[in-house]
Amino acid sequence: MQTQLFINGAWVAPARGRTLPVINPATEEVVHHIPAAAAEDAEAAVQAARAAFDHGPWPRMSGAERAKVLRSIAAGIRARLPELARLEVIDNGKPLPEAEWDLGDAAGCFDFYAGLAEELDGEVQQIALPDHRFTSKVVREPVGVAVAIIPWNYPLLMAAWKVAPALAAGCAMVLKPSEHTSLTALELGAIVAEAGLPPGVLNIVTGLGADVGQALVDHPKIDKLAFTGSVPTGARLMAAAARDVKNISLELGGKSPFVVFGDADIEQAVEWIMFGIFWNQGQVCSATSRVLVERSLYAPLLARLVTEAEKITIGDGLAAGTLLGPLVNEQQYQKILGFISRAVAAGATLATGGKAAKDRGYFVTPTILTDVAPDAEAWVEEIFGPVVCIRPFDTEAEAIALANDSRFGLAAAVMSADSARAERVAAAFRAGIVWINCSQPTFTEAPWGGMKQSGIGRELGRWGLDNYLETKQITRLVSDEPWGWYLKG
Ligand code: NAD
Repeated sequence: MQTQLFINGAWVAPARGRTLPVINPATEEVVHHIPAAAAEDAEAAVQAARAAFDHGPWPRMSGAERAKVLRSIAAGIRARLPELARLEVIDNGKPLPEAEWDLGDAAGCFDFYAGLAEELDGEVQQIALPDHRFTSKVVREPVGVAVAIIPWNYPLLMAAWKVAPALAAGCAMVLKPSEHTSLTALELGAIVAEAGLPPGVLNIVTGLGADVGQALVDHPKIDKLAFTGSVPTGARLMAAAARDVKNISLELGGKSPFVVFGDADIEQAVEWIMFGIFWNQGQVCSATSRVLVERSLYAPLLARLVTEAEKITIGDGLAAGTLLGPLVNEQQYQKILGFISRAVAAGATLATGGKAAKDRGYFVTPTILTDVAPDAEAWVEEIFGPVVCIRPFDTEAEAIALANDSRFGLAAAVMSADSARAERVAAAFRAGIVWINCSQPTFTEAPWGGMKQSGIGRELGRWGLDNYLETKQITRLVSDEPWGWYLKG
């Protein structure tokens, strides 16, 4: 495990010599310490990235050359996948098979953007102009030095979603992982160095958001800010970015609905409702945490859901068979229990769960709340834990209205045997990601991001690469005829 920051291709101690403890959320034991970077380290990292972008080889290489390095990074992640997956379990708490899945996706993300880097070579678009005296072409160029600030729910995967397209585009980057889950992000430093990434192209600084994070965001020499995290932090970053008119993309929170019609298969509905809220302990920005069920199916589905939720194996993510691990840290654990007790105090019914699952570790039982009013905190706010609110509806129009009645618009899901109805509801959702007959499957090739307060811009797919590219027009006068505006002769 790394104990230093990765700046300009070298491992360096944080300027103020501070560290932060790494606590295994399943055992509450301190297992490691990570460096706590501060403003001086942010400065060094931005300077290294600036030099790498302004004078180094990376932005000047062909896309095909960059693609080779990206594929080596993917191979480096795969070569160390079992060890990295265990680190993520210790750091984040998630069950090992989920961590293995995430890391496979992270490697795949580097491979995918390697392909798009190759496609950038020779990409020139000729523009048809209405004036024969001119020709015009459009080229795309890297946006410059990008800062990536990411959350703790998918530690290396969230890094890959930003680092891979930024590197493919030819940018230099400073990555600031969450202070709660920095272990695998630091290992990425060793992997990119081994893959032959030139020094300074990727710099990794760990530490508190208010210290090193804010120093990065405020830095005048960065061109782009890519953030994934909560709405309040995103809003603060947007205000900070506005001072220098920095390019910004935001992937924020959600309170996503799942509409289940009476003709849905009850087994499929139970499976996908559970996957939509208990996977990764519900710590998923797109978690479908508000479930709306047509009244005819409501009672049998709720009964089946409660039975299955109570069967979920809760335990240390490293233990075989675990399906639900601990929440990431004590703060989240207390926060989730607080949400549940306030929901009950406000009149909600606990169909199951709602309590600490073990004496040690930050475990919360899978929780199903009913009788939650549409203006109650539990229905409106992102809980970010294994807590689902479920309520019946009577008409399609009512379901759509309830689904869209949110300040968030990240994801939404619908399940129905009637394909035309499912398409109709999918079209009516005000959300950037819509699932039909499932919830959560995510593909690197497809765009990811939200409407309303869930964010600005899209990650993944071609859209993810666009985040790190500037568009430039080059217009040429090709006529010998005089222009004749000032010189009339
Ligand atoms: P958070 O906003 O608390 O922190 C996110 C990151 O921002 C961390 O690295 C943190 O250190 C940093 N940060 C905090 N204050 C900062 C500041 N003043 N300046 C610069 N950086 C600062 O979010 P979190 O608790 O880590 O993550 C959970 C949130 O992330 C949830 O709301 C979830 O929905 C969202 N999320 C969204 C997506 C998506 O794709 N839309 C994906 C995952 C998580």
